[in-house]
Amino acid sequence: MVITMNKVFLVGSGPGDPELITLKGLNLIKKADIIIYDRLASGDLLKFARNDAELIYVGKKSGEHSYSQDEINKLLIEKANDEKTIVRLKGGDPFVFGRGGEEAKALIHSGLGFEVVPGITSAIAVPAAANIPVTDRHCASSFAVVTGQEDPKKEEKIDYGALGADTVIVLMGINNLKKIANQMLKTRSKDTPVAIIEQGTTVNQRVITCPLKDVVEKATQTKVKPPAIIVIGSVVGIREILSVVPKC
Ligand code: SAH
Repeated sequence: MVITMNKVFLVGSGPGDPELITLKGLNLIKKADIIIYDRLASGDLLKFARNDAELIYVGKKSGEHSYSQDEINKLLIEKANDEKTIVRLKGGDPFVFGRGGEEAKALIHSGLGFEVVPGITSAIAVPAAANIPVTDRHCASSFAVVTGQEDPKKEEKIDYGALGADTVIVLMGINNLKKIANQMLKTRSKDTPVAIIEQGTTVNQRVITCPLKDVVEKATQTKVKPPAIIVIGSVVGIREILSVVPKC
C-alpha cells in the first residue's frame, strides 16, 4: 500500500536575483499546479511557471487587501493536495524570518505535510553581493543575524548592544534604525563601519556605508527604503578593498 500525504512545498526563492534559486526550487516552480508567493519571492521566477498554473499573490500591496498570516495558513491548508504540486514560494530561505516555520506548523497541526526546499538567505548573500564577507579570519570569527522588528507581544526584547558577535546583520531594521544604532553605540566604537544594502543582488542594489555614529543621518539623507540589510562590523571595511576594479 502506498501512503500519500497531502503536502505543500515551502520553497526558498533566494535573495532577489532569480538565478540564485536552487535547481530543486526551480524544478518545482516549473512543475507546480499552484504557486502561492509573496513580494520578496522574486517575481521573475514566475515566468518559469506553467501557463495553466494558478498563481496566488499573498504579499502586501498598498491600497489592496493583504493576507494575514492566519489567512495564508488557511489557504495552504485548503490547497494542500497530494495529486497536485503546491508551491509556497518565499523570499530567501523559508525558515529565516520568513514565518515558514509557522506555515509548516499550521500544516502539521491540520494533519497535512510539508517539504522545505532551502533557499539562499539574503542575510549572507546580500552582504556578499556588496563585497562584504560576513566572516574574516583576522577580524570577524562570528556573525549574528537578527531581526530589527520584533513581535510587539514578545516579552524579552533584543538588546542590540549586548550582541556578542563580531559581525551583526540586521534584517527588517530600517524602521528601527535609530534604536538599533543607539543601543550599539553603547558597546561598540562610534567608528565601527556600517553598510546598508538596499535591494541586494538585484539590478537596483544600492550600498551606503558610513561609521556607526552617522548611520541614522546618512540613512535619512539617502532615503533608504526596505528591503534592506544593515551590516555592522569591521568586515564592512573589506568592501573597499574588494571593490577595486583591476586595471588591464
Ligand atoms: N527569509 C528571508 C528573509 C525574510 S525577512 C531570507 O532568508 O532572506 C525580509 C527582510 O529580509 C527584508 O526586510 C530585508 O531586511 C531582508 N531582505 C530580503 N531580501 C533582500 C534584498 N534583496 N536586499 C536587501 N534586504 C533583503
